[in-house]
Amino acid sequence: MSRLVLVVNAGSSSLKYDLIDVDAAESRASGLVERIGEPTSRAKHSVDGTDHRTEGRCADHGAAFELLLAAFREHGPDLGGLELAAVGHRVVHGGAQFSAPTRIDDEVEATIERLIPLAPLHNPANLEGIRVARAHFPDVPQVAVFDTAFHQTLPPHAYTYAVSRAWRDEHRVRRYGFHGTSHAYVSRRAAELLGLPVEAANVIVLHLGNGASATAVAGGRSVDTSMGLSPLEGLVMGTRPGDLDPSLPAHLARAGVSLEEYDRALNKESGLKGLTGSNDFRELEDRVAAGDADARLAFDVVAHRLRKYIGAYAAVLGRVDAVAFTAGVGEHSPMLRAAALDGLGDLLGIEVDAAANDAATSGEHRISTASSRVAVLVLPTQEELEIAREAAGVATGA
Ligand code: ADP
Repeated sequence: MSRLVLVVNAGSSSLKYDLIDVDAAESRASGLVERIGEPTSRAKHSVDGTDHRTEGRCADHGAAFELLLAAFREHGPDLGGLELAAVGHRVVHGGAQFSAPTRIDDEVEATIERLIPLAPLHNPANLEGIRVARAHFPDVPQVAVFDTAFHQTLPPHAYTYAVSRAWRDEHRVRRYGFHGTSHAYVSRRAAELLGLPVEAANVIVLHLGNGASATAVAGGRSVDTSMGLSPLEGLVMGTRPGDLDPSLPAHLARAGVSLEEYDRALNKESGLKGLTGSNDFRELEDRVAAGDADARLAFDVVAHRLRKYIGAYAAVLGRVDAVAFTAGVGEHSPMLRAAALDGLGDLLGIEVDAAANDAATSGEHRISTASSRVAVLVLPTQEELEIAREAAGVATGA
């Protein structure tokens, strides 16, 4: 019998879900509830190629979960009539405690709660999702799959920030890294496509979505990654700036900017949005094509930062077998891929085939030339499937 896993990804005002048949590696139905807590919430349930949309009031994640169950009852497949192997929860921050997917019990739930200071924007919502799912499916194994877990292999010299022992010990200040599920899947898939055992492949994974991060993966292990204590560090993102001078908070505080304003600006109003007013990369490309100077600058800032990380991670790895692009922008922007890798043939052995790059806008592609020492790949990420596999593995021991 094939194993079915309900994947739950609870955000602060949203609940995304995907019912995955792990053995067939496919989704049976998926959906999301958005604007939870606002006067009008929206829900979408997609099954057999049809989207069913509803609007209404959804006060909290409990109500959103009721909506999810109703959508499955009404449009199928009815969860009541199915045997779930597990519910898999995406949890953003697992701190230094969790280096693998973990079956949730009261103790695990309490540990995730103790990690809230490290991920105040994410872990509370993830916990809500866990609580409502445990209440509705008390007999189904619930598994937490952490964004940080894959990066627990980072060596101390890569995860240590050069700050006082007090900050490191008392406040758990260190690099944790995020998007781990995606980096794990894409690096493994890259090795598979190159015909190399995972243990032998060195891959630079560039996950470029609304959030963006780069990871150096050596033999299947994350050895450096661009996001740090929080998902703010590293690459330029949709609404986050990535790397900044650490003096910035003090500089702005002296000018009267409050901590709340600062936090909000860096999470919601920076990155592409700060530079151009929009965090939509498609719009950015259209504006660049139309000759918009702000858009051009923003594009160049994004591409330059990406290029710096590729160079840095090539040096960290010493030998690179593949550079793999994934997520919304990585999979769909030939223009950014070309800019980030332009002219790296002599230095790094990376040669992009311009025609193959332009043609790669969906699905899996190799976009390097036949003579390129390093393979350049475009690989759709599969975070839900990966979470489902991990959850099924923990629940059924397979
Ligand atoms: P999230 O981090 O929210 O999961 P996604 O991986 O879906 O994000 O990526 C969202 C980003 O991908 C947006 O900036 C969007 O504009 C961009 N994107 C999606 N499709 C395209 C496309 N065809 N061309 C350029 N950018 C795209």
